[in-house]
Amino acid sequence: MDTAEIKQRLKRASHIVVVTGAGVSAESGIPTFRGPDGLWKHYRAEELATPQAFAKNPELVWEWYCWRRGIISKAKPNPGHVAIAELESRYNDFLLVTQNVDGLHRKAGSNKLVEIHGCIWQARCVKCNAIEQDNELDYRNIGPCSRCGGRKRPNVVWFGEPIPPTRLNSAFSAAESCDLMIVAGTSGIVQPAASLPFIAKKAGAYIIEVNVDTTPISAIADLFLKGKCGDVLPGLYS
Ligand code: NAD
Ligand code: ZN
Repeated sequence: MDTAEIKQRLKRASHIVVVTGAGVSAESGIPTFRGPDGLWKHYRAEELATPQAFAKNPELVWEWYCWRRGIISKAKPNPGHVAIAELESRYNDFLLVTQNVDGLHRKAGSNKLVEIHGCIWQARCVKCNAIEQDNELDYRNIGPCSRCGGRKRPNVVWFGEPIPPTRLNSAFSAAESCDLMIVAGTSGIVQPAASLPFIAKKAGAYIIEVNVDTTPISAIADLFLKGKCGDVLPGLYS
């Protein structure tokens, strides 16, 4: 398919959903979990981003989150984030579903978005569930909940935890009703986000995947655009 045809597809579409993963932030210098820089002190993300890891060693988990905050605090949105915000401005019916917790989509200007895995810049009390903005970069300064004194945890969805139903419902109903879905920079193996393209495809949507590698989603994608998000996404409409 040539670029003119892709642009026609985008022009004709009226309800667009974009699904993003860690790959869209990779060019901003934020490591993906499964890429070569995904390891921290010999731990894999799956060993730290779990309720079990936090119950066993909350300091270690906070240290990792503060290390990630430090990287994210220096990062800027890249042309991939900007292209997605630009797409939003061109459609009335648009939703961005991101698995990223870094907040870079918002920084790039995206407003119609669901952060299904939460936000790294928030903490939640494990006792009273109060959510607070938390920009602390040193894990030793993470204090107790200001309301009840309980222990605070990052307000992100960990492996093995359910996604809050309101976020999940928005993502699934948008996938069921869109006519075009762009899936960018996600490995397609973290559920339930990985099933969104399959739901959209079943409902008749045209699926465009952007990734540096093939994924389990590639088999059902109508169009696979191999490359970096920051290179490929701006070219979709310009
Ligand atoms: P992942 O790390 O499992 O996979 C990243 C995917 O992006 C891979 O398929 C890889 O081939 C692709 N990729 C890497 N660089 C790319 C680029 N420049 N352009 C296009 N594609 C590129 O990430 P995931 O699928 O998002 O799932 C892992 C989980 O990790 C998610 O739950 C997410 O919340 C979390 N996570 C978030 C961040 C963040 O907020 N930035 C970073 C790491 C992990
Ligand atoms: Zn509390």
